[in-house]
Amino acid sequence: RFPAMLIRETEGGPRAGLTELSLADLPDHEVLVEISHSSLNYKDGLAITGKARIARRLPMVAGIDLAGVVVSSRAPQWQPGDQVIVNGWGLSETEWGAYSRFQRLKPEFLTRLPAGFSAAEAMAIGTAGYTAALCVLALEDHGTLAGPGPFLVTGAAGGVGTIAIALLAARGLEVTASTGRVSEEGFLRGLGATAVTDRASLAAPGKPLQAELWAGGIDAVGSHTLANALAQTRYGGAIAACGLAGGADLPGTVMPHILRSVALLGVDSVMCPQARRARAWALLERDLDRAKLAGLTHRAKLADLPQLAEQIVAGQIRGRTVIEIG
Ligand code: NAP
Repeated sequence: RFPAMLIRETEGGPRAGLTELSLADLPDHEVLVEISHSSLNYKDGLAITGKARIARRLPMVAGIDLAGVVVSSRAPQWQPGDQVIVNGWGLSETEWGAYSRFQRLKPEFLTRLPAGFSAAEAMAIGTAGYTAALCVLALEDHGTLAGPGPFLVTGAAGGVGTIAIALLAARGLEVTASTGRVSEEGFLRGLGATAVTDRASLAAPGKPLQAELWAGGIDAVGSHTLANALAQTRYGGAIAACGLAGGADLPGTVMPHILRSVALLGVDSVMCPQARRARAWALLERDLDRAKLAGLTHRAKLADLPQLAEQIVAGQIRGRTVIEIG
């Protein structure tokens, strides 16, 4: 038997807790993986605290990210000993997830561990970091990264934000970090931010068109923050939007889009095709400074998850958290 973080139906509603499973409890998918590391994302916080209904069937093993080794496989493309990662694909929503010593998974969910990273580093990046890379790719494909910037990164001290700053800075671009934790200015400048601003300046309703401050940006916050970011983006620029830490609404107008050709680039990591994942991981392998990655990462255990989940939903986790499972 082995430990797992399971969300179960109780009289008081869905509840997450540590439990013990056996291999016979796992779904009958083709590939059995022994998981060594997972990570903590905002969505994991929502799932464990129950603040949003992430698990769409119960019982559900939580956790959207995993790194591990194939133990056995009925799928020809995976062999015992292969080092793999999984990010998203409905884990913790419709498919049993990562917070478990073992999991059986569909072969198409698995990605080979990128050669440039250890399992622990791949989980320090995790969905948040790989999504930051998808946002950088979206800006690159739009042509927005050609100039020097400045680029706005919101939710700057969180998982997506910290890795987005490091990736943009690696290209020599100017990055303004928007954060509610201005006390983290030194940390954010250490990642490569060239300026740090209080997120309160983007949080209130603003005019449809504002002074053109940004060549582009990466937004993990949503709501007024995203509407203001769009209203402050220069002619022809783009904001890659991936998050809702400040709200799922978008209280803006079409004005930045129809008068300044500003683009809103939506970014999803969960069902992203493997070819684009490969581009994102290649970008991370090439551009992500390993010392910066180590500096923004904390390590924790499965048993720490209930407390960490409360903290990430409250916006109190800095950078990324690796969950050591093996
Ligand atoms: P995280 O580590 O908690 O980072 C979120 C950051 O947002 C916080 O650190 C905080 O940064 C800021 N924030 C929190 N509450 C806020 C509020 N009420 N108003 C304004 N800012 C607030 O979470 P994460 O894992 O990086 O994820 C960030 C967001 O991206 C989440 O909404 C997540 O669901 C989303 N996401 C989406 C995808 C996708 O596929 N589209 C993938 C990954 C993540 P400061 O303290 O610096 O202000």
